[in-house]
Amino acid sequence: MGIEDEDIRKVRDATDLVQIISGHLQLRKVGRRWQGLCPFHNEKSPSFSVNGEDGLYHCFGCQKSGDAITFVREIEHLDFVSAVEYLARKSGITLRYTDKDEGAGRRKRTQLHDAVDAAANWYHDRLLTAPDAREARSYLRSRGLDGDMVRAYKIGWAPDGWDILAQSLKVSRDVFVGAGLGFVNKRGRLQDHFRARIVFPIFDVNGAASGFGGRKLPEGEGPKYKNSSESTIYAKSRLLYGLNWSKDEMVRANEAIICEGYTDVIGFARAGMHRAVATCGTALTEDHVRMLKRFSQRLVLAFDADAAGQAAAERIYEWERKYEVDVAVVRLPDGVDPADLARSDPEALAAAVEEAQPFLGFRVQRVLDGGNLDSAEGRARTAEQAMGVVREHPSGLVRDQYVMQVADACRVEPDRLRQILAAPAPPPQQERRGNYNDGPPPYGEPPPEFAEPESFDDDTETQVLRLAIHRPEHIPPYLNAAMFRTSRNQQVFLALIAHETLHDAIADASPAIGALLAQLAVLDEPDGEGPAIVGQLLYDSARRELGRLRGEAKHSPSPTIDKAIVGLQSLIPKVLDTNFDLAVAEELVAWLPTPRE
Ligand SMILES: [Zn+2]
Repeated sequence: MGIEDEDIRKVRDATDLVQIISGHLQLRKVGRRWQGLCPFHNEKSPSFSVNGEDGLYHCFGCQKSGDAITFVREIEHLDFVSAVEYLARKSGITLRYTDKDEGAGRRKRTQLHDAVDAAANWYHDRLLTAPDAREARSYLRSRGLDGDMVRAYKIGWAPDGWDILAQSLKVSRDVFVGAGLGFVNKRGRLQDHFRARIVFPIFDVNGAASGFGGRKLPEGEGPKYKNSSESTIYAKSRLLYGLNWSKDEMVRANEAIICEGYTDVIGFARAGMHRAVATCGTALTEDHVRMLKRFSQRLVLAFDADAAGQAAAERIYEWERKYEVDVAVVRLPDGVDPADLARSDPEALAAAVEEAQPFLGFRVQRVLDGGNLDSAEGRARTAEQAMGVVREHPSGLVRDQYVMQVADACRVEPDRLRQILAAPAPPPQQERRGNYNDGPPPYGEPPPEFAEPESFDDDTETQVLRLAIHRPEHIPPYLNAAMFRTSRNQQVFLALIAHETLHDAIADASPAIGALLAQLAVLDEPDGEGPAIVGQLLYDSARRELGRLRGEAKHSPSPTIDKAIVGLQSLIPKVLDTNFDLAVAEELVAWLPTPRE
């Protein structure tokens, strides 16, 4: 079984089941038992019952039952040994393993977490005491983060040096690199990952230190934010900054606030809302939603939902349905982030959260606010736009609720709006616009205030772009923009490879490309294998190139072109036969166009 039986018994005896379960749902005492809403099935009246004395639970609805270990296994998605380890950590019991090998993988993870924890302590001490951290301290103070907060969140300072942490931390090279704290440089020496940055330690849901978000000082070099690189213990699509501190209040309030910055999470807490989390340099993912759903049914987005919001609509409605959550959006004054507002006017921040609108309502209001309601034409146009937003919602009942609001605001007959909803959907945006597509736009450019970001199809190029965002290590260096079909995708790809983080790419991009990047970022990782997706892109590109060369050969034949045609003609079927095996597809690169320098 892995762990000595005696130790498993010890862990079971030392664990307070009621306390463990209370971390996940509200329990009410009923006689000698405790009751609550079952976390394993959806229900309105409580049928989940806990016997604290014997340490057992049972649900009369879905028939799930067990002890503390079973509960932790189910709720944290852990295997047996990990669940015992999780509980052992909570009660401070040291486990003995029956099989040395089996414990090894887990010990390795623990080792990595311990190394990150040691680094967090080291960075933190450095911030509090070192003379070279003076500038960082005064910057934090200027943002309203005093010593108490710095301590509470264990904020640290990574000094300006190549290997100061590597030299100071007493861990092996493997562990140092494996924990994402540094890397081996070209000269074979260990080098720190973070340099001259304020670092915010990021903990997993159980409070184990997993990585860092690093922010440069205003005058510092490099991108504004830099996070730990992906590792066995740090996966940004599955981590939420602050979840370890916020989950209890999320359960109590049945509300989770999602923001963008580490200081926003801290800002919400200082304004009395200890239920905020931040994504770590990525847009909200389905994994995040799945995780948050365990703690709360209402998800409140507290970031500029404008660009990402419009693009993410479809996915958000899908998540609402699939995970039975309600997504609402906080309306913040333009250009003000939650951290600022928490400092200048905490009551206003609390009120904004209180008044958060349902996702669709927020978007409809956005259109109404932006429309020109002074003229009949303006009102008609605004109504049409608003119905375009309403139409995207999958529920007819919900859609109809917004008909009245739009009808009132635009002084249009509700039935006329219902007719618009009933009519077939207009053609996709890119056919009507086309500023990134090849060729001139068929109907000319719409006025900018009506411009909406285009949507991506789920084609190979989009998959590669999603790969570049979520698993950039799968993008081989020989991939270049000329291998993409549309200039839109070319620009998006260039923006991605030119920047270390998505944040930076968006910050540097034109508004249009930035909106597309934001839209891509909320799409999940592509489903397929990275190499096969890249292989398919090379294949598509090669087929286009072959067509182009054949055309060229007709007008101006040359031995070079003939050679390329023969090369491509023999390779293309091979790539198809191997199901886009990248090792085979790579050979196409020699015949593919290179970017214009
Ligand atoms: Zn149940």
